[in-house]
Amino acid sequence: MSSARILVLGTGGTIAGAGSGATGAAYRPGGLALDSLVAHLSALGLDAELAAREIARIGSQDIGWAEWEALHAACTAALDDPGIAGVIITHGTDTAEETAFLLDLTLPSTKPIVLVGAMRPADAVGADGMRNFANAVKVASDPAASGRGVMLVMGDAILAARDARKAATSSIDAFRSFPRGPLARVTPASIDWYGPPHRVGPENGGAARYAFPQELPRVAILTAGAGMDEKPVEALLGIGARGIVLAGMGQGNAPRVVIEALARAAASGVPVVRATRVDEGLVDRNVEVDDDALGLVAARALGPAKARVLLMVLIANGVTDAGAVQAAFDGG
Ligand code: GLU
Repeated sequence: MSSARILVLGTGGTIAGAGSGATGAAYRPGGLALDSLVAHLSALGLDAELAAREIARIGSQDIGWAEWEALHAACTAALDDPGIAGVIITHGTDTAEETAFLLDLTLPSTKPIVLVGAMRPADAVGADGMRNFANAVKVASDPAASGRGVMLVMGDAILAARDARKAATSSIDAFRSFPRGPLARVTPASIDWYGPPHRVGPENGGAARYAFPQELPRVAILTAGAGMDEKPVEALLGIGARGIVLAGMGQGNAPRVVIEALARAAASGVPVVRATRVDEGLVDRNVEVDDDALGLVAARALGPAKARVLLMVLIANGVTDAGAVQAAFDGG
């Protein structure tokens, strides 16, 4: 049997980071060319043929519409190419959950698409990048990985884009999967899937759920803090915010004057989603905030960063009515 052909799209991040040597702290994310990473990986003797294409060499804090559009187009072409079994995207970990979720919302799930990153630069002692990359090759070559949407591979675990969340700034075990646990355990030698595909698979089309946005509507995240007033909400409306995500306290709470200002924003046609600044936990409707009366949306399991991605995609697709926005968050 011939090896699976995998397209590797490089964007940068710590997995391609170097500069400090084995024990230094400072480094430059994206300092290494994708070709050198792929050559290193190919030398490990994995059963896959890798074709590399560099989209960018940046820290993922700088990623935006241009890189997302290029990734979406490259993935779309790969999904249509019968010679390609799957796609790996090397990515910084800071915004990996946002890129993964955006692509998950806007691409079919007919072949595995896997983001992979690292917490330690390639030239650090105990670098994790090659291990994670080798694991990603295993996932992208596995036909059983189709129908599971876009995935993130970090630390021998496979996380669904909808659930993945960076929860530590520097620990090697930086990602959590919430509210559902990891989809599988992976090593360069094996994959153990814990359940069947949660998205429709290749046999029934695996269609994309939303069109890719032609531009990103301005959606702001507002973090709630004790004692704040409504002025930041007014400032966001003043700069033309088309949607607001509240990173609220607890179950998406904020001081009364802030909630009232957000309700006025919603009444003026700017959708408002209540998420939480707490690391994990659901935000449900009508707990302490009367969403029905105020026209607000509860983010459910999505944290603020991914709630913003979904709200941008919805607005770009013409979905702004609170009921329809809530239905999309309920389905997340
Ligand atoms: N801030 C950089 C990035 O997200 C480095 C962090 C990392 O990759 O872990 O690309």
